Amino acid sequence: MNVLVVGGAGYIGSHCVRQALAAGHQVAVLDNLSYGHAESVPEGVRLFRVDMGDQALVRDALRTHQTEVVIDFAAFTNVGESVQQPERYHENNVVRTEGLLQAMLAEGVKKLVFSSTCATYGIPDKMPMTEDLPQNPINPYGATKLAVEKRLRELAASHGLSFAAFRYFNAAGASADAAIGEDHSPETHLIPLAIAAVLGRRPPLKVFGSDYPTPDGTCLRDYVHVDDLSRAHLDVLPQLNQPGQALFYNLGTGTPYSVKDVIASVGRVLGRPVPYECAERREGDPPALYADASKVRRELGWVPRYDTLDSIVLTACNWHLARPKGYAS
Ligand code: UDP
Repeated sequence: MNVLVVGGAGYIGSHCVRQALAAGHQVAVLDNLSYGHAESVPEGVRLFRVDMGDQALVRDALRTHQTEVVIDFAAFTNVGESVQQPERYHENNVVRTEGLLQAMLAEGVKKLVFSSTCATYGIPDKMPMTEDLPQNPINPYGATKLAVEKRLRELAASHGLSFAAFRYFNAAGASADAAIGEDHSPETHLIPLAIAAVLGRRPPLKVFGSDYPTPDGTCLRDYVHVDDLSRAHLDVLPQLNQPGQALFYNLGTGTPYSVKDVIASVGRVLGRPVPYECAERREGDPPALYADASKVRRELGWVPRYDTLDSIVLTACNWHLARPKGYAS
């Protein structure tokens, strides 16, 4: 298919681009490069350096690429930052995404795969988490993604948009050849910070909260390899075969790991312990989030190929060792 990957120069998007190429799709990237990295876009793939909120330019890109489906990864994704700057998150994640949606409808592009998040559920009353749990986000990031989910349902009913929304758990790791990986600025995620602490590139890791109601007192998360995560976006394309489809999938492995499990894994993989200290809880962090991934496994035949934490962490370590400073850009 002719696929336009919006946010395709970002962490997850860039992995999806490579997989889409390998699967034989015609791929172009639309990214404003506010957080993305131009050098993560493979040679030969057209990069439209455009903001998704700019309807005229997005329409041009959709037409030029003869787009059949949009895969949209473009969003601000930092929970802590969203608590500090809710307006900025709303403007980018909701208002500009609406611009993208309007441009798609105007060009008759009615298939979309959308990046949503388990943060739309808030603090769930049931674990593992199924797709039918109530959605009550406890931070603005989750609220912005839920707002778009609701909008997509409306557009499916009113305009025949056919979409799949994946509610991600914790994306982690890097490509197996260490050519692309995670490079956020500022970096806030656990695995890269733990690796950097071992390598002496950053101060000791702060463990945000050690008094949670979990087995070791630290938060439980469901870490899913970025290549497994992005592959699901391609696995779902054959399902978008009728107008008005509204598909929702939790995307995680279903196995919870604590912050201390991650610390132990990084220590094992690098052969040196992670220096860390216990700190206050971080605002907006639920104690436990892990998926019941049976729906995506059943309906899409999706199975994570990286099925242990160490295998995920190994790819992240290889990327950080190969690229001490991340992307040059
Ligand atoms: N975390 C931590 N120290 C850090 C960064 C993260 O203890 O410096 C914890 C955080 O509280 C959460 C888990 O690690 O429980 C994963 O956080 P991350 O920011 O990687 O992803 P999130 O779950 O926020 O999407």
